[in-house]
Amino acid sequence: MLIIGCHLSSSKGYLAMGKEAVKIGANDFQFFTRNPRGGSAKPLDLEDIKAFEEYRKANGIVSVLAHAPYTMNACAKDEGLREFAKNTMLDDIMRLDNIEGALYNFHPGSHVGQGEDVGIQLISDMLNSILTKEQKTLVLLETMAGKGSEVGRTFGEIRAIIDKVTLNEKLGVCLDTCHVFDGGYDIVNNLDNVIEEFDKVIGLDRLKAIHLNDSMNYLGAHKDRHAKIGDGGIGLEAIERIINHPKLKNLPFFLETPNDIDGYAREIALLKTLYKD
Ligand code: FE
Ligand code: FE
Ligand code: ZN
Repeated sequence: MLIIGCHLSSSKGYLAMGKEAVKIGANDFQFFTRNPRGGSAKPLDLEDIKAFEEYRKANGIVSVLAHAPYTMNACAKDEGLREFAKNTMLDDIMRLDNIEGALYNFHPGSHVGQGEDVGIQLISDMLNSILTKEQKTLVLLETMAGKGSEVGRTFGEIRAIIDKVTLNEKLGVCLDTCHVFDGGYDIVNNLDNVIEEFDKVIGLDRLKAIHLNDSMNYLGAHKDRHAKIGDGGIGLEAIERIINHPKLKNLPFFLETPNDIDGYAREIALLKTLYKD
């Protein structure tokens, strides 16, 4: 069974997201924990979460992925910004621990001229100050396109962060197809090699989610502009190979394509027809 869904607005709460997912044929979904440009989260509504968990069981929603705000930069130069990133992640994890098997994805950060090594150190320092044995939420590092000074463009950088984190059993990876393609990994012509390299450098056991996006740009463009499925440099045939690859096909896929809700429903329906059970 293809586990597929898309990014949804969280403004009406968990139950509303669950219902919207089911309505568009999805069995997973992603949402922002708070305004993607920052700000505080809504108060935790435990009634809503309880209703959602019941709805979810009855309707087969397999996976829930929360996305941290973009403004969170764990390796900012400014200490106040790093403190903001830390407090945001702490608060997000505390909330997400109320959701069964929640995954929490974040952009590792931008080193803003301090260099990758400093970036990697600051990101792992932050994770070391946040992660606890008791937390249930799994924190995912997203593979990045390498726009500006983004850390996490290469599998090696992701691995370096994981290696510096003591409680790294709380860490996983979310592979974004647009980002890795823009980052220079040829998932169109060499998917097997890219997956093999991921396995060698990071380990496929760390791979917990896929952001399924086409790219408006070419291989290695470092731009990070998502395109609709089949509308970009990756193309529909490569996307069909990705969702059917034996090492990927059982992972949850999340669309972050430029679509309204009807567009997402159409992409989900299309991908289901391309999936081989
Ligand atoms: Fe992201
Ligand atoms: Fe993404
Ligand atoms: Zn992106």
